[in-house]
Amino acid sequence: MKKSVFFLTLIFLVTIIFGHSFLNAQEIEGRGYEFLKKAVAQISEENIAGTIKSLQAFKTRNLLSEQKSDTFGIGAARRWLIKEFQKIPGLEVVDDGYFLPAQGQRMVRDTELHNVVAVKKGKAAKERIIIVNAHYDTIAVSRDGRFHYDDVNTEAPGANDDASGVAALLEMARIIAPRETEATIHFIAFSGEEQGLVGSTLYARKMKEQGRKVEAVLAMDMIGNIKAGNGYIDSTRVRVFSDDPSDSPSRELARYVRKVAEQVVPSFEVSLIFRADRFGRGGDHTPFVQEGFAGIRFTEARENYSIQHTPQDTIENLSVSYVMDITRVVLASVLSLACAPETPAVTGQRGAPLLGRGRGYDAELRWNWEGDREKIAGFKVYVRDTKSPFWERYYFAGKGDSFLLENVSIDDLTFGLSVLGMNGLESPVSTYRMPPRRRVEYNFRELK
Ligand SMILES: [Zn+2]
Repeated sequence: MKKSVFFLTLIFLVTIIFGHSFLNAQEIEGRGYEFLKKAVAQISEENIAGTIKSLQAFKTRNLLSEQKSDTFGIGAARRWLIKEFQKIPGLEVVDDGYFLPAQGQRMVRDTELHNVVAVKKGKAAKERIIIVNAHYDTIAVSRDGRFHYDDVNTEAPGANDDASGVAALLEMARIIAPRETEATIHFIAFSGEEQGLVGSTLYARKMKEQGRKVEAVLAMDMIGNIKAGNGYIDSTRVRVFSDDPSDSPSRELARYVRKVAEQVVPSFEVSLIFRADRFGRGGDHTPFVQEGFAGIRFTEARENYSIQHTPQDTIENLSVSYVMDITRVVLASVLSLACAPETPAVTGQRGAPLLGRGRGYDAELRWNWEGDREKIAGFKVYVRDTKSPFWERYYFAGKGDSFLLENVSIDDLTFGLSVLGMNGLESPVSTYRMPPRRRVEYNFRELK
């Protein structure tokens, strides 16, 4: 009798001690989500609708259209956009311009191309960059229903493709600019997307060549249509595309967005699509992924192919409240990424994962993290089955730089690591990935 009382008391105490640190982490995370919810609540329907209407009023924003007029064509649209970003205190607006001679099948004449970049500086001592983008150029098929790349004056209002994304971008910049962030954010309206991701390709290459530390790229393209041509309607979810493999940084970024959205925008679903993009289509995240950065794409759940790239792509044919829902998801994700501590490194100098077998049959995880440990609540070790699409559980690992899971096989599970800031915001998860095995050459002579 006394023995059972003793054990009950022991169990009770253990629950309190362990439960307490667990509860603490959850309490801290709650703070982070409250901070994100406040930002998301500021999104204005009037601002979103206003941007879409202003952009479609330039009739076309074709890369090769008129650049000198103040009321028509891509030049007018660009100058308007620059002014809108300049109205926001705390942003540095850069006209990222290029000259492109005629080339390929789509750039049928010499042109200037200008990406509009608004930079919100972070306070971290070491550079960290988050890129969020949309494209402000448009295109439309000609009267015969086909693309003629020299037909640059056909009306191409591009309300959904992609004024919807630009409206979200501008609204996010307004809300995030006054807040303090750790990472620097580049809000970018790309051009030349319709001619083959031209603006984003040049920018991604520049980031790579300059050795810039781009942590995440989030592209919004067509985020306003809710009704497909076949009659199906869906305004309850957004698709997020991320390239394989399943443990790639892009896929992890997609999982991050889903997790943030589940807490901050619970009424709206983030549908992860485990694929780089739609079949036969391109997006401005892809050039960054090709340069080795983590990039994902946000797109409406249902597309309407009979409206895309036509003069009918106007605000009447999209849902502003749906654009707002997707803006909530992306804003919460970007702000969370920018305010969270830097993701820990889980590889050694030669790129091998810092993962060992402990005393022989354990999982021993180690990591490198150089930030200020006063500012973090601690590290979180994530585990999932190798076949599972999502992390299945996590362990709170404190502020050290290793963690041991006894009698757990490192070969049969996937492990990851994140760091939780005292502000309740968490870094993306770094995955302990299997390095590729080197190909070996031997000296030999075949026996005849
Ligand atoms: Zn587009």
